[in-house]
Amino acid sequence: MRYVSTRGAAPILKFEDVVLTGLARDGGLYVPEVWPEFSAEQLRAMQGFSYSEIAFQIMKPFVDGAIDDIALKSIIDHAYGGFSHPEVAPLKQLEKDLFLLELFHGPTLAFKDFALQVLGRIFNHILARRGERVTIVGATSGDTGSAAIEACRGREAIEIFILHPKGRVSDIQRRQMTTVIESNVHNIAVEGTFDDCQDLVKDMFNDFEFRAEQKLSAVNSINWARIMAQIVYYVSSALRLGAPDQSVAYAVPTGNFGDIFAGYVASKIGLPIERLIIGTNTNDILTRFLETGEMEKSNVVPTISPAMDIQVSSNFERLLFDIYGRNGHAVSEAMTVFRENGKMITTPEILAGIHELFAAARLGDEGTRRQIKATYEASSIIVDPHTAVGLHAAKMCTDDIFVPVVALSTAHPAKFPVAVEEAIGVYPKLPTGLNDLLHRYERFDTLPNKLGVIQSFIRDRTTDL
Ligand SMILES: *Cc1c(COP(=O)(O)O)cnc(C)c1O
Repeated sequence: MRYVSTRGAAPILKFEDVVLTGLARDGGLYVPEVWPEFSAEQLRAMQGFSYSEIAFQIMKPFVDGAIDDIALKSIIDHAYGGFSHPEVAPLKQLEKDLFLLELFHGPTLAFKDFALQVLGRIFNHILARRGERVTIVGATSGDTGSAAIEACRGREAIEIFILHPKGRVSDIQRRQMTTVIESNVHNIAVEGTFDDCQDLVKDMFNDFEFRAEQKLSAVNSINWARIMAQIVYYVSSALRLGAPDQSVAYAVPTGNFGDIFAGYVASKIGLPIERLIIGTNTNDILTRFLETGEMEKSNVVPTISPAMDIQVSSNFERLLFDIYGRNGHAVSEAMTVFRENGKMITTPEILAGIHELFAAARLGDEGTRRQIKATYEASSIIVDPHTAVGLHAAKMCTDDIFVPVVALSTAHPAKFPVAVEEAIGVYPKLPTGLNDLLHRYERFDTLPNKLGVIQSFIRDRTTDL
């Protein structure tokens, strides 16, 4: 399988290089040149498979021999073997046609472990084979950082630097990153927002000299392998609900558009998906876009669902690429306009194309607390604020369809205990094993939102590359 950039001007690469490269050289994101297809029979044959077996089947055509089958199986088994639930991604019924897909049984209690536990191992496997080392830089609004650090800690081929917006991630999220003691892990608290952190990472990738000297790699959601791994739980859950002979709708609390884009890919490879529902918080650029056809940046407002406090959803570019008929030049122009004007307008035809599969709804903090309470009162299940935003969107956008609706539960409620307690008066407990998190020693550096300062900081700590 070959991979092309969404902006059409970067080298075409195979899986191995796509994983190591992250962002394409033309500023675009890599996507498969063609979508592989799974027939209804092939999907039916996977009913009853374990999560790891489904993962292997789904990832195989994307990896396409870059990692041999035995090694890929072992990577997948080890990645999901560390999850605390035997089903890995269990489905819980809330109502007749409403289900929660619990994606928080990994080591850092959020869905990002699904991709990163695999990605960290894939990186190490490829690098060990090549005898190389890399510097990973990433920006996090909360959960990516800890999941990436957890996936890379102690791996010899990797030096990892994670930028988080100072004071804008929860205590638990920060501590999951800053209490890791391995010396290849470096936490940087940036005096700025998540978008500032994301821009700094992008700027480091666009500085070709720095990028080459540092052998820079990314594990944020622009890395194709993350999308690939996330396709799996759409497939496993749909199979449980009767796919391919039953279509299913998904509601996804959305920030960077990586998770829901994996749902889009699942539909492209043959899974019958009726609708993909985007849940946004007050930072509702995507919901506004679906309402008006205008994508317009505004300022990031901190909310109680911080992993979605984003104004620019990087992975949306991957969808645009398909919507624009895979015309990289057109995507490149649209992204340039957006970057320069903070605004992009689509045609009614393009918007209609998006509406065929996608819907969206927003929910502010007040509503989020109400949704947490309503779910708790109706089912005794405690959901985290992100999940609550998704559940609300599921309710808002499914009046006209009659299929099972799966709301992705993206984080364990104990990651956001303050918001949950405000909503229901119950302080959710951390699972055993993380009890002492609040008492472990923290290690991080605070740096200004200045590219040069951050680059020197990284250079000083990677002298042996
Ligand atoms: C990252 C994250 C999201 C948003 O996912 P995207 O792939 O960025 O759209 C939602 N909920 C939680 C808990 C997250 O950590």
